[in-house]
Amino acid sequence: MAHYSIAIVGAGPAGYFTAQALQNAQNEDRTFSIDLFERLPTMWGLVRLGVAPDHPKIKTVAKVFEKVAAEPNFRLFGNIEIGKDIDIEDLTSRYDAVVMCTGSAIGRKLGIPGEDLPGSLSAAEFVPWYNGHPDFAALNIDLSGTTAVVIGAGNVAMDCARMLAINPIELDPTDTTDHALATFHGSNIRKVYIAGRRGVEHAAFTAPELRDLPKLEHTDVYIDADQVSEAHARAAAAGEIEKHVASNLEAWRLIAEHPKSGHERSMEFRFLSAPKEIKGNDKVEEVIFGINKIENGKVVDTGETYSIPCSLVISAIGYQAAPINGVYFHNGIIENEAGRVLGTNIYTVGWAKRGPSGVIGTNKSDASDVVDLLISDLKEPKETMDIAMLIPAGHQVIDQSAWAKINAAEAAAGEPVGKPRVKEVSWAKLLSLGLN
Ligand code: NAP
Repeated sequence: MAHYSIAIVGAGPAGYFTAQALQNAQNEDRTFSIDLFERLPTMWGLVRLGVAPDHPKIKTVAKVFEKVAAEPNFRLFGNIEIGKDIDIEDLTSRYDAVVMCTGSAIGRKLGIPGEDLPGSLSAAEFVPWYNGHPDFAALNIDLSGTTAVVIGAGNVAMDCARMLAINPIELDPTDTTDHALATFHGSNIRKVYIAGRRGVEHAAFTAPELRDLPKLEHTDVYIDADQVSEAHARAAAAGEIEKHVASNLEAWRLIAEHPKSGHERSMEFRFLSAPKEIKGNDKVEEVIFGINKIENGKVVDTGETYSIPCSLVISAIGYQAAPINGVYFHNGIIENEAGRVLGTNIYTVGWAKRGPSGVIGTNKSDASDVVDLLISDLKEPKETMDIAMLIPAGHQVIDQSAWAKINAAEAAAGEPVGKPRVKEVSWAKLLSLGLN
């Protein structure tokens, strides 16, 4: 019987699914001790800080994470930043393997003039702001104008647009942070454009998200019906329409045909619109889009442009991993081969490994594949070590019982106001909740 110690870095879906895969891989020949390190004092990664508050069902996967955490071979080390509080080499030299599940936290840049004007921000700031990430709680999001533009045709863009376009009373019973809820209640935004640079048929939105749009109670959703039928014709002319494209096109048709109720709030999709420039004197005043067309299956710039006057621009065009001292990154991910960081005992799972793609459940199969490789690489277990040596003196660790206290305090605060929880967003207050 061999007993191995594994460090996992990052307490998001990839981290917990990796721990679960390791727990499931224990047998009469091998067992694992699992230490999960997390920079924040709060756990669950994107399940807490990414998933839109009006999609609470997606967050029920946190129950699975807590079940994993309740196993006797699991320990949590929250409020510990690897690469700062503890060096990566301290983990690789002591643990049999280290699995980096650190995600992709930085929004990709558009690279167009005006991108840095006040009023232009990334979904990588806006989403953690409304979801209560302590590093983003102090952002000043100005919703005093009437029109917002969201750039990108993926599910993150959809989340951002929906959060801006729905009536904030729909967010009252959710875990949207108090500061964001107050800002949304004071918002003057009534029109939200979502711009995709290619055709309707190329959008990265998924069908369930599209099918939800006609159900919005206080928001009309517009897509040009001609653009939908043209996209359908192009897709059909190119051969058999792929299943996910066919279900998206059907969802678009239903959105286009859905009767509008004359709500003062609306979302409008614009396709074949490539952002060229964000203009404004000392803040965002308009976005200039180049008009694309599709010729022989290729997206081509027509050379024509149009403008959308607005006061807020959110770009949701993908993410890249944030650097970590001692870990080699390339093209926005940790350089790896199928999850192995060659020549080391480091592995990676999730967005840090494959880039920002897939839904939360995708990380389960990803974790299980990488854990299979990790196990096939294991040799003689290392000597057991004293983990306390790694923790900087006087540093408060959020262990599983401290996290349970934070979790319980937030849920208790939510109960009298009919919310699943009221999130604490101050790092210092989170730490003190962990002590109580
Ligand atoms: P995504 O799905 O990859 O979409 C990124 C979008 O940005 C694409 O439409 C892309 O267009 C566009 N884009 C990239 N560069 C651009 C540029 N320079 N100018 C204009 N547009 C540009 O990424 P995401 O929305 O960040 O989502 C990440 C992952 O999380 C996805 O797998 C998503 O499904 C998942 N997610 C799921 C949910 C859910 O299930 N409810 C919610 C949120 C996120 P091109 O295609 O033309 O490159």
